[in-house]
Amino acid sequence: MCCNGVLFEIVLLEPNDSAKRLAAAGLKLKHKKRKHYIQQPCPAYKGAQCCIYDERPERCRKFECRQLIGMRKGEITEAQALEKIHEALTRVSQVEQLFRLAGESNPNRPLIKRYDKIMEQPIDASHDPQAAVLRAELTRVMQELEELLKRDFRREPPPATA
Ligand code: SF4
Repeated sequence: MCCNGVLFEIVLLEPNDSAKRLAAAGLKLKHKKRKHYIQQPCPAYKGAQCCIYDERPERCRKFECRQLIGMRKGEITEAQALEKIHEALTRVSQVEQLFRLAGESNPNRPLIKRYDKIMEQPIDASHDPQAAVLRAELTRVMQELEELLKRDFRREPPPATA
């Protein structure tokens, strides 16, 4: 979920990262306000693996989700962490199923952007009540997923040492 657009929209490069080296490794970098970043889902994420693992950016090296940190500290067991991951993935599947019903089929965008795209499209609820019901359901499931990701997975990686 760290690489496929579920947890994050982008990965910012840090001063220690070489944009040139990462581009040579096959990453398509974007930049805004003089900062380079990788759009998620990451193009290096293939077959559930990072295909540039040895070259991956600083933030990817440093990021540990709350489940992993909880396990390291002995606050939760591996089985509990796996159960939480399973719960999150189940909710992601529910969201993706609702995306398909809403006609959104572009997997090359972060999950939240796909949701925003659906919600931006105007509907006439009086002529299309099913679409209104679908959006209400999608909003509910998406909010539950976002709360779960925020509470149990997301955190900022520590800043780079220059
Ligand atoms: S570079 Fe590798 S670790 Fe970083 S987001 Fe992409 S696939 Fe994940």
